[in-house]
Amino acid sequence: MLKQLPVILFSAFTFISFSCQSKSADPHLNKPNTHKEAEAGGIPVNAAAIMARKQIPVLCWHQIRDWRPTDSKTSRDYIMPIAAFKMHIKMLADSGYHTILPDQLYDYLTNGTKLPSKPILLTFDDTDLDQFTIARPELKKYGFKGLFFVMTVPLGKPHYMSKAQVKTLSDEGNVIGSHTWDHHNFKKYQGKDWEIQLDKPTKTLEEITGKTMTYFAYPYGLWNAEGLPQLHKRGFKMAFQLAEKRDPQDPLMTVRRILDSGYWSDKTFSNSIKHSF
Ligand SMILES: [Zn+2]
Repeated sequence: MLKQLPVILFSAFTFISFSCQSKSADPHLNKPNTHKEAEAGGIPVNAAAIMARKQIPVLCWHQIRDWRPTDSKTSRDYIMPIAAFKMHIKMLADSGYHTILPDQLYDYLTNGTKLPSKPILLTFDDTDLDQFTIARPELKKYGFKGLFFVMTVPLGKPHYMSKAQVKTLSDEGNVIGSHTWDHHNFKKYQGKDWEIQLDKPTKTLEEITGKTMTYFAYPYGLWNAEGLPQLHKRGFKMAFQLAEKRDPQDPLMTVRRILDSGYWSDKTFSNSIKHSF
């Protein structure tokens, strides 16, 4: 019995220090080790440490416009009425949330770098024009920044953002990420698809913004473990899905997000943020 005591104490100690590390987010803890792994470009071997850190809320929007009678119930899940969007963004500001950029999330997850209080990451998918006309001024009102995942095929087409608008978002301090060429399901890519859906959009977006593309969002939030090395190989630092469980072997490539809903009151929205991460 006594012989087992040191083992138990040791286990308890490692457990406690591990938990504290994940909560205190001390930038000095484990830094040289994790930094090297993160820089190596391969699948980080510190996945367990990343999994142990508290998740930071990441929100996701698509279209921001009022519902039409012809919109189905399912499509309404992806359409945020304008007044509801404005109310939810105001709620975030009034509640003391601070928007962060994906580099900050990456540094926090890989190195434990400290974040502002009540950090939150706002993301927008699919290149919809109303993200520029409605979301942009609303975010500006509160000094908020966002991460815009651009699908490149509709750039400049009606109801979608132009290249100049994407550049403006980027120049103003928002981050542009890749959301493929034409939104095909990531799980089905083979052969030339990697070039069409990943390499070419990266080139287009880098030409528009003058910045390196290091963040990716899966169409429909769908991913498979077999495809993740393709993202690492291309230098992506993080990839974003929807609310499914993360891959414990590769949490950076399976960052979780929740869809904000036009059916939610401010209170429901606030509770969803608190309970989903
Ligand atoms: Zn999408």
